[in-house]
Amino acid sequence: MKIRSPIVSVLGHVDHGKTTLLDFIRGSAIAQKEAGGITQHIGATEIPMEVIENICGDFLKQLDIKETLPGLFFIDTPGHEAFTTLRKRGGALADLAILIVDVNEGFKPQTYEALNILKMCKTPFIVAANKMDKIHGWETYKGLPFLKSYSKQTKSVQEKLDTKVYELVGILHEEGFESERFDRVENFARQISIIPISAKSGEGIAELLTMLMGLAQQYLKEQLQIETDAPAKGTILEVKEETGLGVTVDAVIYDGILKKKDTIVLTTIDKVIKTKIRSLLKPRPLEEMRESKKRFKKVDEVVAAAGIKIVAPNIEDVISGSPLRVATKDFERVKEEILNEIESIKIDTDEVGVTVKADTLGSLEALVNMLKNMDVPIRVADIGDVSRRDVVAASIVQKENPLYGVIIAFNVKILPSALEEINASGLKLFSANVIYKLTEDYQEWIEAAEERKRKEWLDAIIKPAKIRIIPKLVFRHSKPAIAGIEVIGGTVKKDYSLIRNDGGYVGKVESMQDKGDNKPSTSKGQKVAMAIKNAIFGKDFEEGDVLYVDIPEAHYRILESDLKGKLTEDEVQILEELVEIKRKEDSLWGLRVEY
Ligand code: GDP
Repeated sequence: MKIRSPIVSVLGHVDHGKTTLLDFIRGSAIAQKEAGGITQHIGATEIPMEVIENICGDFLKQLDIKETLPGLFFIDTPGHEAFTTLRKRGGALADLAILIVDVNEGFKPQTYEALNILKMCKTPFIVAANKMDKIHGWETYKGLPFLKSYSKQTKSVQEKLDTKVYELVGILHEEGFESERFDRVENFARQISIIPISAKSGEGIAELLTMLMGLAQQYLKEQLQIETDAPAKGTILEVKEETGLGVTVDAVIYDGILKKKDTIVLTTIDKVIKTKIRSLLKPRPLEEMRESKKRFKKVDEVVAAAGIKIVAPNIEDVISGSPLRVATKDFERVKEEILNEIESIKIDTDEVGVTVKADTLGSLEALVNMLKNMDVPIRVADIGDVSRRDVVAASIVQKENPLYGVIIAFNVKILPSALEEINASGLKLFSANVIYKLTEDYQEWIEAAEERKRKEWLDAIIKPAKIRIIPKLVFRHSKPAIAGIEVIGGTVKKDYSLIRNDGGYVGKVESMQDKGDNKPSTSKGQKVAMAIKNAIFGKDFEEGDVLYVDIPEAHYRILESDLKGKLTEDEVQILEELVEIKRKEDSLWGLRVEY
């Protein structure tokens, strides 16, 4: 058994300083060669505990952090895209994360995205409020801890920084996280620490690393215990063509040991494959690289945590973010395990639901989880570009349920044949490279569609109205009867039925005309010539009669229970009159419960 270094990812909006921060940490580690230096991995850098102690100084002791960890394993590929790819069963591959925010710019779309993903993966994280040296008037003290540098600033500069940090606290609160500047945090289990830093000058990095160590100590004890002789478990970071080597896969090993003679099990888009390792490669240290010109050096084995390049046959179609396992004697069981893991993400059911496509297993998992949290049914979730087949399948769903007959695509291409089919069928496609933007857009679209449906339903409910036959303006006696009318209250629409105030049936509104124009509806105060189907003047109605729009009992019940608040005072009054008319004939009108 050994305790491995926690895997740390840096996430944040583009240009907020992820690369600069990693470079600074690496640079200050390289500068301390005598302390053991750093270990360069493929796609990652491991900073040993000794170096961290040197950078952090007394802070570690103050926090009572026991140095039981070998170091920190930083993933070099920053950004949340890399973070979503770096997954393992049950969540994120990274044990800890730094969410970096330019303190002058505040939260940006990708910051929200990163926060959402951290929330979903339940990854412990700290917030680095970067670029504090850009605050107007800030006096830079290279490499100084934050609290020391802060104490040397003028009061107004300190206040400016405080204000900006509190803006972050406010946003994090809205997003469901309690946070504080790290030195004011009372409860590390409940509050997220915000550490103001300058990735450029190194101010605050001492506290940043200290807080990371604290977080590791608090959350990760069991998770970091590994068996050094167990078959390796890892995650594919990238599939890459390398000159002279052919196709290689870069992988992060988070458990066990990977040996050169191992056969490994990997996943392509449509199957699980077994392949024999040809070589395991690590980056060559800078000094050696000058001499040999070769960037990589062969190793016999690696123990987690490790970033490694693997050369092996038949790995062209391996998916980023998919699992790596060592093929033990029981290949079928390993295969089963991998398939189970993949199947739990790549949903494929017959039910009516949306079609989801994404570029990697990790982004697919993130997207699927967010949609599931929104209670959106998913018919297919798969990796790869949007194809014509996807569009045809979604169109079939659309016929069953228009809300789910859509394609939600993250960071993939829409193939030309698919685009043609989309244009022809009018299918709705959501495509973006920010996950929460996709889910938000879809949510908004659904709400708009539901609002439209509700409005249609509302419009279909017959509402109270009454009219008066204007004396001396009866133009035709029957088939249909045509008379000048004035709407006294409410709105009359074509096809509404009319009754007299004694409850007798008059006829159906066939059409309404105003100065020769046909009108689908007429409202209070307007006068039109109305044609009433089947009504006979002198028998069904007279000049000066007041007629009511007939409301079916079922509609009345909906008006009473759901729509009372939406009616005007006039309409409420007319409805009461109508009820009185109806109950003269049938004392229980509108009171019966419908089953
Ligand atoms: P990334 O896209 O998140 O990796 O951002 P980079 O690390 O590439 O930084 C973007 C720009 O911001 C670069 O020009 C950096 O030099 C600059 N930058 C990063 N951190 C700081 C900082 O703390 N202070 C200042 N003044 N500039 C910074």
